[in-house]
Amino acid sequence: MQHQFIETNLEEIAIKSIARAQENIDFVEHLQQLNIDELDDTVYELDSLISPQIDCTLCGNCCKTLMINVEAPEADIAARHLGISRVVFDEAYIEKSMGGKMLVNKIPCHFLQDNKCTIYLSRFAGCKEFPALHLPRIKNRLFTIFMHYGRCPIIYNVM
Ligand code: SF4
Ligand code: SF4
Repeated sequence: MQHQFIETNLEEIAIKSIARAQENIDFVEHLQQLNIDELDDTVYELDSLISPQIDCTLCGNCCKTLMINVEAPEADIAARHLGISRVVFDEAYIEKSMGGKMLVNKIPCHFLQDNKCTIYLSRFAGCKEFPALHLPRIKNRLFTIFMHYGRCPIIYNVM
């Protein structure tokens, strides 16, 4: 495949995302018409070409802008990683959503330093998955994926 220009400038991506709002709505409608497995395969292929060309440690925009869900076993692991008790961990880093879910209580995330995750090996499942273009049934997740189009250079360039 011919080498493509990869856009990583977050400001540019945010501006283009606004400018392309209608175009992206139309594009999602088009993607909805495609076969679910074929769409997965196409996105996997593009993701495997583009992701290696984007250095997340130079970006960190997901860690700077997203609310991070935390499950209790993940909080246990992170607390252990930090050498503190779950009570201290929860007091320092967790808040409860209206629905009772645990969330990291700060955006940008507490654990981001110099664009790097300080609990990388113990980071939460949502952190490991994002932007989740390697996971199946993309067709059912297009709304969420395009919600992050203006935020994540991987999503922007793949889409
Ligand atoms: S825990 Fe680490 S990977 Fe997850 S949002 Fe915070 S800094 Fe980012
Ligand atoms: S996953 Fe996307 S938003 Fe997060 S650091 Fe990597 S390129 Fe940036």
